[in-house]
Amino acid sequence: MLTHNLGYPRIGSQRQLKRACEDYWAGRSTLQQLLQAGSKLREENWKLQKEAGIDLIPSNDFSFYDQVLDMSLMVNAIPQRFHDVVIGRKNSEMDLYFAMARGFQKDGMDLTALEMTKWFDTNYHYLVPEFQKGQLFKLFSTKVIDEFNEAKQLGIKTKPVLIGPVSYLLLGKEKEQGFDRIDLIENLLPVYLEILNRLEKLGVEWVQFDEPFLALDLGEKERNAFTYVYQLIRTSFPKLKVLLATYFEGIGEESVLAASLPVCAIHLDLVRKPKQLSQMLSLIPEPISISLGVVDGRNIWINDLEASLKLIKEAAEKLGESRVMLAPSCSLLHVPCDLDLESDEKVLSSEIKKWMAFAKQKLGEVTLLQKLATEEQLDNIDFRRNQEAIASRKTSPLIHDNKVKARVGAVTSAMASRKSPFALRAEKQRELLNLPLYPTTTIGSFPQTKEVRSWRAKYKRGDLSKVQYDKLLRDETTGLIRWQEEIGLDVLVHGEYERNDMVEYFGEQLKGYTFSSNGWVQSYGSRCVKPPIVFGDVSRPNPMTVYWSSFAQSLTKVPVKGMLTGPVTILQWSFVRDDQPRSETALQIALAIRDEVQDLEKAGIKIIQIDEPAIREGLPLRKAEWQQYLAWSIRAFRISSCGVEDETQIHTHMCYSEFNDIIQNIAEMDADVITIECSRSQMELLDAFAKFKYPNGIGPGVYDIHSPRVPSQEEMVFLLKKAQAVIPDENLWVNPDCGLKTRHWPETREALIQMVAAAKALREPV
Ligand code: GLN
Ligand code: ZN
Repeated sequence: MLTHNLGYPRIGSQRQLKRACEDYWAGRSTLQQLLQAGSKLREENWKLQKEAGIDLIPSNDFSFYDQVLDMSLMVNAIPQRFHDVVIGRKNSEMDLYFAMARGFQKDGMDLTALEMTKWFDTNYHYLVPEFQKGQLFKLFSTKVIDEFNEAKQLGIKTKPVLIGPVSYLLLGKEKEQGFDRIDLIENLLPVYLEILNRLEKLGVEWVQFDEPFLALDLGEKERNAFTYVYQLIRTSFPKLKVLLATYFEGIGEESVLAASLPVCAIHLDLVRKPKQLSQMLSLIPEPISISLGVVDGRNIWINDLEASLKLIKEAAEKLGESRVMLAPSCSLLHVPCDLDLESDEKVLSSEIKKWMAFAKQKLGEVTLLQKLATEEQLDNIDFRRNQEAIASRKTSPLIHDNKVKARVGAVTSAMASRKSPFALRAEKQRELLNLPLYPTTTIGSFPQTKEVRSWRAKYKRGDLSKVQYDKLLRDETTGLIRWQEEIGLDVLVHGEYERNDMVEYFGEQLKGYTFSSNGWVQSYGSRCVKPPIVFGDVSRPNPMTVYWSSFAQSLTKVPVKGMLTGPVTILQWSFVRDDQPRSETALQIALAIRDEVQDLEKAGIKIIQIDEPAIREGLPLRKAEWQQYLAWSIRAFRISSCGVEDETQIHTHMCYSEFNDIIQNIAEMDADVITIECSRSQMELLDAFAKFKYPNGIGPGVYDIHSPRVPSQEEMVFLLKKAQAVIPDENLWVNPDCGLKTRHWPETREALIQMVAAAKALREPV
């Protein structure tokens, strides 16, 4: 039973890659130094995996920015606009690479970066390849060969990882009309063949082709492309061992296709879809092996070794041990590096830590499973410890809170409905709030200035007392309330100065949450996130936002919106439990938010916004599973928002494009007002709402907060008129696209003054 790994986190356990890249970008270090930092990280990772006892160690899983961008460079999918970065200039191939990743504003050029989008259903973002009709490819970057050589010199024969040609094309985007990118497969494949030829000459034995699309909904053309590609690779390189890796889903309907491909091994994500194993076992012909992805590459909990051994035995009995391989479910890119670095008991208690495994620990689990499966080791001490930890997770009072479970059990459908339908509520709210037509508001946060961030840092370090810190925040909030009144906004916000992050802030106050000191995961390029961790039943011991909202409201007669993050977004941006369904955890969080909503209402807050920017990104990869997900996630939102009187106005906010396919579900959320991102698409995103005749209030963002550019009053009036054409006047709100926390004050001031003027102009047409 060979063990292998699909990919190791490349940022380094101390985020060395982040520093190396950012130093290089800022001109603080040389190309030489950057490249050295890269080789050092690769060497460390290879050695670490070797020491862990992994048989097939990946190479080319390292990347200075993104593995899809690496592939684009390999096959010369470099859009025309970037050629000037290197041609006739002193810039390096690395500068070209970073120009594609980050844009390029130098040497009189102003090039926009490749588009960035989410890597399947993860929080990792990749750079989208751009394709033209009839595009030709050739070998450009030899990174995959260089890294194989580099490891070979260190005495490690690696298994190079490539994104398979079918998935590579599907990950991209047609930049002109009149063709289908999958039709480029015949142009693309020769570059892969050239690479394989060179790798084979260097003595490569195994090559991993990542083809996650094989586990997604496919069309006829894509199916044919899979057969074409892997047959041609086999006939060209009959001795090469090709491992075809799927992950994030089960192969499902494509099992027959998958089993027909002439490869050496197929990798299955058995954490996501354990049931696909039996089906594949019955289909897979000799001598193809199956790689069992039994250790979760997406989450941070220890493996249930006994459960994994069952799957391994099932496979071994059917195929024989030599045709079974063991691995994490997907690349370990999505988990933090090393749990051993979590030594601060105050941040992460050892009691909880014993239930957790990061990348390094997961490799240990893979090799331990191999040992347990192939040698009779029933009294193995590590196995016993693992089973003890698993057992304690089932009963630990740290995790299990009967009060929470009882409450979840007692949830009624009435709790998921407002008392009256929207039309009636709207009337009562109009009476109470007395807002003008086209009310103006913002999405919540205001610029988090250097000062605000330095106060928080000082407070966390203990250099500011709680009293001092709160006083500074109160003054800042007071100033903001005064300013909003002055420019004439109709619904104010307190500014969210007390928050570091819209999920962490709530996580820190909820029971059942914990944190890590070093649990960084790459989000894109040099950006890393440290997701909070839901380990137990979630409840809210104390109000979380009432103090700041009521303080802000006490300063003014104008309504101040309470500001919360919704249950689905909190869930989506955390590491969550794997010992109960996500829907269950969402419901617990929803009840905690419901309590907060009710407390805000009691404290006299008349408008409460519950942000749910992550509802859409939580959609399952297969459409067949969408409705089930939407049912429980929308219900969680409703449970969190429906515990109030008709007079209390519930807002929600979502900032992503594309509402078309889920507009019905968004309407089912039944928020009184929804604010959405809209300005970059010139209100096109409103079409879905218009077509559906969305019945409730809606605030289509009238300016893009991602840019420092100040929009003019006329521009905003123009956009609002477009919105007016499709939305009833009494439902239309005026607001920016999203929160302002990443903006600076000068442009924020200007833009909001213009925005208020735009609303006024709309009210009094001349
Ligand atoms: N209320 C949050 C803010 O203004 C919303 C952030 C978001 O949508 N991502 O910052
Ligand atoms: Zn937003």
